[in-house]
Amino acid sequence: MQSSPAGCPPTRTAPQPFPLQELMGSEASPVLYHAVAQFRQAAEDLSLDTGLREKLSRPERILAISIPTRMDDGSWRYFTGYRVQHSTARGPAKGGIRYHPEVNVGEVMALAMWMTWKCAVVRIPFGGAKGGVACDPRTMSEGELERMTRRFVAGLAECIGPETDIPAPDVYTNPQVMAWIMDEYSKRHGCAAPGVVTGKPTALGGIVGRDGATGAGVAHCVLWALEQLGLPAEGCRLAVQGFGNCATWACEHLQAAGCKTIAVSDSRGGVHNPKGLDTDAVMTHKLQTGTVATFPGGEQVTNDDLLTLECDVLIPAALENQITAGNAGQIKARVVAEGANGPTTPDADQVLHDRGIVVLPDILANAGGVTVSYFEWVQNQQGLYWSEAEVAERLASTMSRAFTEVWTAGEKDRTDLRRAATKLAVARVAEAISLRGM
Ligand code: NAD
Repeated sequence: MQSSPAGCPPTRTAPQPFPLQELMGSEASPVLYHAVAQFRQAAEDLSLDTGLREKLSRPERILAISIPTRMDDGSWRYFTGYRVQHSTARGPAKGGIRYHPEVNVGEVMALAMWMTWKCAVVRIPFGGAKGGVACDPRTMSEGELERMTRRFVAGLAECIGPETDIPAPDVYTNPQVMAWIMDEYSKRHGCAAPGVVTGKPTALGGIVGRDGATGAGVAHCVLWALEQLGLPAEGCRLAVQGFGNCATWACEHLQAAGCKTIAVSDSRGGVHNPKGLDTDAVMTHKLQTGTVATFPGGEQVTNDDLLTLECDVLIPAALENQITAGNAGQIKARVVAEGANGPTTPDADQVLHDRGIVVLPDILANAGGVTVSYFEWVQNQQGLYWSEAEVAERLASTMSRAFTEVWTAGEKDRTDLRRAATKLAVARVAEAISLRGM
């Protein structure tokens, strides 16, 4: 520390270490270390000012909420929910809400930081946030989920709003959950407030095409990358981990362009057929049995095995930390398109880059969801609604600009695309902060 005039706080001369342990005690999550490491690389690449490094390496706000919920058998359970706003420098905070047993504050902090970069990569005027509740919705009834969601919103009510922080669906949340959030928030504010969440049912002001937007964005990026690499889409083999919202729509769009899906999985395991899977039949099987793993049209594979199958494009579309230094050396795909947030660790990134495997990073590849969420919010604020064709066209043009900017930056700097995308994003957020004079 430098000496300061009497009575003034000491002037900082060096960046302070990110206070992970201080903020989270023993709950420090590996994904948060990954997110902070990626940010630090961008800060180095940009020679970012010390104050900006400090500001952007930690969230603006962390809310932890106890959620008492009456279960169907009359007992009470206390779930823990979080909302983290990483940055509101470029606009209201924006990010999904996840219901999953492994939700923890460190994971939510990392996901919130990635949302800030994602919105900046696609140049939409939002900051970054994320939320989650540690629960297992697969074991809860609809009534229990509704009561838990409404109680969570009661705790969030002062923090979310159309002008401040706008949630959306994420893992194991869906338009019905968004409808409950909108209703609970609206009741508390005495008016219908569709702009408080995106990913709502269309009957409540949701946008046409939001369901498929994340997968469509992934598919656009894959097709543009194949074009850049001189590889044909026709016959291109896809292996897909996590056959949920993002993955199913990505497969549908890519299959329409001539690709074939040779493997898919969910939390219970996967199925593989090198000749191609009928993904509609796989989905029907999942709806009937609860999993894709037992689909009769292929061989069963584990989620780990799926990642290293012989294929052209690998789409991790489930959770974080799937591609690690331990398996990156065995990945055979030419392109990895990150439908999920944070599926690749920084160590693995390096291995993949050294092996010439192109990683389309999450903050670009899965930005279609937040882009169409932004369109939904614009429509709600204006009360003016677009056709599905208009939404699709605006999505393609937003993603195309972002893809070109990231690809060009990667080529110019000779870095992998995550490093290029994060550098672009951090520069935009830092500029906003500097202009605002924070
Ligand atoms: P979803 O709930 O619709 O699907 C998740 C899928 O992953 C399910 O098939 C589930 O069975 C599977 N899964 C869960 N745990 C798994 C495990 N351990 N191994 C393998 N599979 C597992 O969720 P989604 O909305 O498709 O989100 C998937 C990923 O995409 C998440 O990382 C999410 O953050 C990211 N994402 C989603 C959106 C969106 O708009 N939905 C936008 C951007 C990013």
